[in-house]
Amino acid sequence: MIETMYDAPGIGLAAPQVGVGQRIAVMEMASEEDEQSPIVMINPEILWTSDETDEASEGCLSFPGHFCDITRPSAVEVRYMDLKGQIVENTLERLQARCAQHEIDHLNGKLFIDHISRLKRGLLVKKFKKELAAGKHRPKQP
Ligand SMILES: [Zn+2]
Repeated sequence: MIETMYDAPGIGLAAPQVGVGQRIAVMEMASEEDEQSPIVMINPEILWTSDETDEASEGCLSFPGHFCDITRPSAVEVRYMDLKGQIVENTLERLQARCAQHEIDHLNGKLFIDHISRLKRGLLVKKFKKELAAGKHRPKQP
């Protein structure tokens, strides 16, 4: 999953996006672009969200090339199990907070387009379906 995330390229990926029916998400934690510091979150949940919110353009590996401005809490506290089986509680801010919320949404069957208006969502889905029909999003051959 970590490899798939970097290949995409993306900063987060949830298991259901790659056909794995488990509550697992990976995300990049490095602040510098040339660093890689991925974490694996097993069974992640959001314990707390800040009242303060941020609006930022957000994309998704399930909708390549499409971005929407989405408002989310700017900080969250998450709890998850890491690969060593340890329970980790972590407060995330800004981009990392956004990424964690986006990936945990995936695990709950929610997509980033569920955060925008019905009208905008309809337009985006229509456009994306057209692109799919035109063969624009065929998986890359290895
Ligand atoms: Zn996504």
